[in-house]
Amino acid sequence: EGVVAGGGGTRFDLEKETELRFEVEAGEKVQLELLTGLAEVFGSELNRNKKYTFGPGSKIAVFTWQGCSVSLSGKTEVAYISKDTPMLLYLNAHTALEQMRRQAERDNERGPRVMVVGPTDVGKSTVCRLLLNYAVRLGRRPTLVELDVGQSGVSVPGTMSALCIERPADVEEGYSVQAPLVYHFGSTTPGTNIKLYNKLTSCLAEVFSQRCEENRKASVGGCIINTCGWVKGSGYQALVHCASAFQVDVVLVLDQERLYNELKRDLPHFVRVVLLPKSGGVVERSKDCRRESRDEKIREYFYGFRSALFFPHAFDVRFSDVRIYKIGAPSIPDSCLPLGMSQDDTQLKLVPVTPGRDLTHHVLSVSCADEGEEGAGGVRRGVLESPVCGFIVVTNVDTQAQVMTVLSPAPRPLPRHTLLIMDIRFIDLK
Ligand code: ATP
Repeated sequence: EGVVAGGGGTRFDLEKETELRFEVEAGEKVQLELLTGLAEVFGSELNRNKKYTFGPGSKIAVFTWQGCSVSLSGKTEVAYISKDTPMLLYLNAHTALEQMRRQAERDNERGPRVMVVGPTDVGKSTVCRLLLNYAVRLGRRPTLVELDVGQSGVSVPGTMSALCIERPADVEEGYSVQAPLVYHFGSTTPGTNIKLYNKLTSCLAEVFSQRCEENRKASVGGCIINTCGWVKGSGYQALVHCASAFQVDVVLVLDQERLYNELKRDLPHFVRVVLLPKSGGVVERSKDCRRESRDEKIREYFYGFRSALFFPHAFDVRFSDVRIYKIGAPSIPDSCLPLGMSQDDTQLKLVPVTPGRDLTHHVLSVSCADEGEEGAGGVRRGVLESPVCGFIVVTNVDTQAQVMTVLSPAPRPLPRHTLLIMDIRFIDLK
């Protein structure tokens, strides 16, 4: 129904309020073209007679409010039209948020701060993108707060970040990332250091609030916070912490009634907690698939993406020219802690790392921290709370010569000398 195969690809005729869902096979590319009518991909409008290319593994929905026809060429794993989408409910959520922005504008208050939560694979990132796109299309300047350390839409994995959205996401490439504020977390799950995770959430909230005080548009635009899919135990507590740090007004819970009830119970009564269904189009991603998309994100950081290819640099860095730290000492039993020290202290401790061969392939964040004077024990303060200015990957370590070779987006020298090690590795195959 509504599908015609032809020379230039397969044509799909979509009725209003339906969507075409497709996945691109591994190793393949698919081209999409809007032939008639109006359509959007996750809230970004398609231009007519422009060919959009999607790479292997892409999972895309082309939605139309008015009806349209599109053509697809290339190898899709699946491609079907669905009439059953929650888009109307998502649009209603957007309309309610826009109402709040208008009211904020009128009453000289701040716009909505929204947290999007739910288990893995319910379409949290997609809902965030949709809401941000709809807001920016109305001339708003919302902020995306990315707390998903596993699958960040803004920076490399293992980071927490904030990005002011000034134009809709590019249909193929997502948000153009010009000047995000990025913090080093260091691993792909909050559970490896929940104290640090909560602390960085607070840091981001503080910076965002400061920006809102200085910039009226940012304040009215509010923020959309994307969170991790870990919604039990400390993961749940981290959501509650985030809600309070950002003083969120609205929580959108995707697909899980239990989480919805818990948040309704635990958050202050003035926070609006709303349960929304997930889209049937959201595709579950395997562990391998997640690992691949993390790898891809790091590769993009160094090598760019189609229209903007980068040429990273490789050079040697002397051990004596840098200081490498890991955040958080391995936890030890309470009974073994020195007097007056708590587990919190160990999780937020900067531990100097002696460079060795095991550093190879690790991603290191280059900290923006002041290179000023050192505190007690030769360890600088403020590193935890400082954003990072970029990332490098260690490609080789020569312990004899006391140097390591790094892959860097910019030529030598490194802009700063304080480096933070991630659990995350990247093997540069280029
Ligand atoms: P995670 O917990 O890993 O962060 P998530 O809940 O944020 O996942 P998304 O990343 O939003 O989920 O969606 C998972 C995948 O499903 C993405 O590849 C996205 O492009 C795809 N997707 C989302 N909505 C649809 C849809 N309606 N049709 C087809 N694919 C979709």
